[in-house]
Amino acid sequence: MTIMGSNPRARVNTNHPEAFAICDRCGFLYNIGDLRRQMEYRGNNLLWTGYLNCTPCFDQPFQLDRPIFIPPDPSPQIPSRPPFWQQEMAGSGIGAQTPQNNPIALLAEDD
Ligand SMILES: [Zn+2]
Repeated sequence: MTIMGSNPRARVNTNHPEAFAICDRCGFLYNIGDLRRQMEYRGNNLLWTGYLNCTPCFDQPFQLDRPIFIPPDPSPQIPSRPPFWQQEMAGSGIGAQTPQNNPIALLAEDD
């Protein structure tokens, strides 16, 4: 037996009466036992959003809402070695900061 004639979603059982509730998403009337708590990830825990949804409207909690924990960087290796091109650049004068190619030093000389 249904109530309100046009709504087949809510059932009436005279031997086991059950309350009715409205789905917060679609607005149809259901038995309250057919509605599910809509959950979402807040941090790493599931929390109820306060919505009661029917089964077709229910969304599975989205896994990517969970925080991503990145492990710390690895500890440095000792002794570390500088890249070979740093020594080459320092020896050839390319990239080395001399008063001739240092723009800050050139600006200071202009004053
Ligand atoms: Zn619904």
